[in-house]
Amino acid sequence: MAILIPMPPTPIQIGWWRLVFRAKAPASEDAVPMLYADYNATTPLDPEVRAAMNEALDGTFGNPSSMHSAGQAARRLVDRARAQVAALIGAAADEIVFTSGGTEADNLAVLGAAEAAAGKQIVASAVEHKAVLDPCAYLQKQGRAVTLLPVDRDGRADLAALEAVVKPDVALVSLMLANNDTGTIQPVAEAARIANACGALMHTDAVQAAGKVPIDVKTLGVSLLSFSSHKIHGPKGVGALFVRYGARLASVFHGGRQERLLRPGTENVPGIVGFGKACDLARTRLENDARRVAQLRDHFETQVLARVGGTRINGGKDRLPNTSNIAFAGLDGEAMIINLDMMGMAVSTGAACSSADKTPSHVLLAMGQSVVEARSSVRFSFGRDTSDEDIARAIELVVQAVNLLRGVRP
Ligand code: PLP
Repeated sequence: MAILIPMPPTPIQIGWWRLVFRAKAPASEDAVPMLYADYNATTPLDPEVRAAMNEALDGTFGNPSSMHSAGQAARRLVDRARAQVAALIGAAADEIVFTSGGTEADNLAVLGAAEAAAGKQIVASAVEHKAVLDPCAYLQKQGRAVTLLPVDRDGRADLAALEAVVKPDVALVSLMLANNDTGTIQPVAEAARIANACGALMHTDAVQAAGKVPIDVKTLGVSLLSFSSHKIHGPKGVGALFVRYGARLASVFHGGRQERLLRPGTENVPGIVGFGKACDLARTRLENDARRVAQLRDHFETQVLARVGGTRINGGKDRLPNTSNIAFAGLDGEAMIINLDMMGMAVSTGAACSSADKTPSHVLLAMGQSVVEARSSVRFSFGRDTSDEDIARAIELVVQAVNLLRGVRP
């Protein structure tokens, strides 16, 4: 199904080109059907989520911390959502701490674990999202020892290196469940065994994995797990950190008693309600959605690799079912994005938060690629609303865009 998205404002300015492109404005409408293939950046709000949020917005304005009945009505909504969110990852409701999203959950995990274990070192993989890497860099500037684990050519963390580095002086090991740029799934359960054996807290950033692969915090053996609502068809600006009972995590925000003191402040009730509903839908639809999207993604990859020369998949075999990161030899990924955007297809080169950045994906660089190789890659990510027709059109548009950039006449 094509999604109606207002065309980007013209002129549009993208990335390092710093050039102004005048995308041809659509003749009549403000909105044209856009083929959306950037589900790892964000997802459209599910209509059932919107309905649940509207109900909360219209009916309940109380502060969940108030003792009176208006407050308690809001508290019940937050409690119900907490149970829905917990159910997606096999946690108990009380182990969920609502945050403003994945970035805040990651910051709370890294900074809270460091604060709780003064002087101990932090270990994270080199391919983590900036929401983990930047707090690590901040801690390093403060004098804390931080070790970044190398990854192989497929982007999988080196467990032998982890084993060598994890000692009783490690406070936290952070390894994402799935990578946002490539979809590579990490050996988190194995890493957790190594971390737990030394008494280190194990954190996983499951922002991309949630809703795409089954997650059970007990099977994974993690103490901390971050996820985010807007990646699973919920509203933006809300997420959660799973904090296992007894995990030593210090508060890094101060000023209230909400969320076990870990995230004080009046709760975003409609956002939390929407996140709860989105988790409920993700849990019940996961198996079907993942199977269907994987088939579409596999067909897309097979066709693009067969029809476009000089292409290669980044990220190995064990990847999220929806993600295709493809290197197009000799091409510039940003030029592909701009051309595809003008043709009506939304894709990206990687993390949305760094798309204005000149440097190529730190993930591909950590996988041993050269700057030129890393710059030639484009991330396609599909989702719940992607149809067979979208995939057929996506294949044609990619072939056309490459031919255009390579100067191949039709
Ligand atoms: N972690 C990963 C792996 C992500 O992909 C993202 C967003 O792209 C984040 C964290 C940040 O999440 P949020 O946008 O909710 O702050």
